[in-house]
Amino acid sequence: MTIKDLKPARVWNVFDQITQVPRPSKKEGKIREWLINFAKENKLEYKVDEIGNVAMFRPAAPGFENAKGIILQAHMDMVCEKNKDSKHNFDTDPIETIIDGEWVRANGTTLGADDGMGVAIALAVLTDPAIIAGPLEGFFTVDEETGLTGASNVGEGMLKGDYLLNLDSEDDGIITMSCAGGMDTLATFEYKPLDAPKDLIYFNLKLTGMNGGHSGTDINTERACATRQVARMLYDLRVIDYELATIDAGNLRNAIAREGEATIGIKPCDKENLSAAFNEFAAMVKEEYKISEPNFKAIITSVDAPAKIINKADAERIVNTLYVAPHGVQSISLEVEGLVETSTNLSSIKMHEEGIIEIVTSQRSAVGSRKMDTAHRVETIFKMGGGKVRHTDGYQGWAPNKNSKILKTAIRIWKGLYGVEPKVEAIHAGLECGLFLKVNPNLDMISYGPTLRNVHSPSECCHIPAVQKAWDFTLGIIEDVKNEK
Ligand SMILES: [Zn+2]
Repeated sequence: MTIKDLKPARVWNVFDQITQVPRPSKKEGKIREWLINFAKENKLEYKVDEIGNVAMFRPAAPGFENAKGIILQAHMDMVCEKNKDSKHNFDTDPIETIIDGEWVRANGTTLGADDGMGVAIALAVLTDPAIIAGPLEGFFTVDEETGLTGASNVGEGMLKGDYLLNLDSEDDGIITMSCAGGMDTLATFEYKPLDAPKDLIYFNLKLTGMNGGHSGTDINTERACATRQVARMLYDLRVIDYELATIDAGNLRNAIAREGEATIGIKPCDKENLSAAFNEFAAMVKEEYKISEPNFKAIITSVDAPAKIINKADAERIVNTLYVAPHGVQSISLEVEGLVETSTNLSSIKMHEEGIIEIVTSQRSAVGSRKMDTAHRVETIFKMGGGKVRHTDGYQGWAPNKNSKILKTAIRIWKGLYGVEPKVEAIHAGLECGLFLKVNPNLDMISYGPTLRNVHSPSECCHIPAVQKAWDFTLGIIEDVKNEK
């Protein structure tokens, strides 16, 4: 038995073909060519825009020319992760799929059901002769995973419909109706490097074992954030006369920092005091975060003298600025229960070149003005501390629309099919949907998809029964919309 034998056969057949085509993010040439051939073979009108997105159009069936147009949207790229022992070459090799009980996974690599399954459902709809409907469009974006560049640069003549079904969500029974917009705020602080005094003794202070997590969806979990704790540690240690030599924390802009460290020099007579102050700090953090960070560790190690230290006044200025910089949830939604509306993440502190400390932060909000407000506050604090600041362009959010017609239809269809209310969610993370509003501010959208687990990792798997449910749900929506008055 192969995945081609699974049901619905039309969807799994297309998915099987997609797994044969390499499609790493930013290298979508082969999958785009495959999509174009698919459109030609199935006599679908198609369009490719400058960035490389592909749209396919299926005209309305006779009698349904005036029905609302539906766009089935998915991204054509995939995250390429494999196990250490896998010889897989993502640029050339097909994904090897394995049926494992109720799940399909790959052999030591990501499966690419994120979002190949979305592409497969859309293409299966476009080519199913049993579907009699109004105008349908398949819209397939490039590079969702590493920059949303396809969705940010939608060309003319794409996205013609009134409703958009984004097929990039991962939980059966959940319909997403809102996502956050985001932007980054980056600062550089100059300092004067000085030769490290030889009469001091030096210590590395390391904070580690924290959970980290996604800077959007995990921001309300009270995790410790290593960048923030390193700044706080250096602030608290001001009771001791120390020289700061190095500071380093965090890594990815979209992750909560898991570890961080600093190197400081002290007079030999202060050794006991440092050890007491450091242990006191560590015990305090451990107690405060005993529930969210049970594995938090603080380690102090004696190290050789570094070549340089940071001039004291500069070090104090930078530490104080980091200490007061905002981090975490800034506002919660009163429209959608439990939704973080606005947040900021103190992502990383790095010393890539001598004389400069780089800080990366990242802001998110479902409300554009609040995202800007938070970014401006971060900017102002960094400027007050003498930093030079710039923002990235960022991407737009998708605010909740409780009057959405397609959402109401979707809820009714789901209930009719499965006898239960679907969960309607807003997420504090980015989706391509927000960016489509730039092209058509009136686009009425929802996002859903069959259950996927462990996406972006070699354990990625797709729940087989959920594919049938997502398929029937999609057909139900299409059928309903064509008769909409
Ligand atoms: Zn995806």
